[in-house]
Amino acid sequence: MDNQDRWCFTWIPSDQGVEGANRAGLLKRAKWEANSIITASFLDGDPGVQQRVKKAAQQWTAPGRANLRIVFQNDPDSLIRISFRYRGSWSVLGTECRNITDKSQPTMNYGWLTPGSTDQEVQQVVLHEFGHALGLIHEHQSPAGGIKWNRNKVISDLSGPPNNWDLATIEHNMFRPIAKNESNYTSLDPQSIMMYPLPANWTMDGFSVGLNTDLSETDKTFIHQQYP
Ligand SMILES: [Zn+2]
Repeated sequence: MDNQDRWCFTWIPSDQGVEGANRAGLLKRAKWEANSIITASFLDGDPGVQQRVKKAAQQWTAPGRANLRIVFQNDPDSLIRISFRYRGSWSVLGTECRNITDKSQPTMNYGWLTPGSTDQEVQQVVLHEFGHALGLIHEHQSPAGGIKWNRNKVISDLSGPPNNWDLATIEHNMFRPIAKNESNYTSLDPQSIMMYPLPANWTMDGFSVGLNTDLSETDKTFIHQQYP
């Protein structure tokens, strides 16, 4: 699938830098208060695509999952502000969206969604970005670890197009796990929506991950444990 090259970025404004894209772990300081009502609105975009984004996002808060409410409204004074105008797909982690105080600025972006996107493409990226918006980190950077990286191959691939990342960015986005004391996490869940595709030649032991397009069973039980 062509979107195997599409890497998401997530960042933590209070860290002042770009938090690299990809970890079932949750950053504790980005966690929402119990039973939070999280407002969301669109800054731009096609109304049909907006409807599809809304529908997919609500999967996280279905009964038995996160006991939170994501309330879409037509008001830029919302906690989650969604755009389609910027490059790539990304979201701020959890409550860190409160630190972007300029309400004209998005906290979440879907750079490659169009009216022609398939339902599976929409669901995959929306579940992933809303996972970040609920505080989830990229699964491959879980403190549980377990990925035996072929560092040279990863560096060689990501330093070229389309990413063109420098070494520091690759370290930060790929190899550096989140600290154990800063997050809640499970053992590595290769089926997680927060896991990115990993080709077998990126690992020393042939471990690979395809493109996950659904919430895994661990994603569902973990988000319920975090937001009971
Ligand atoms: Zn991501």
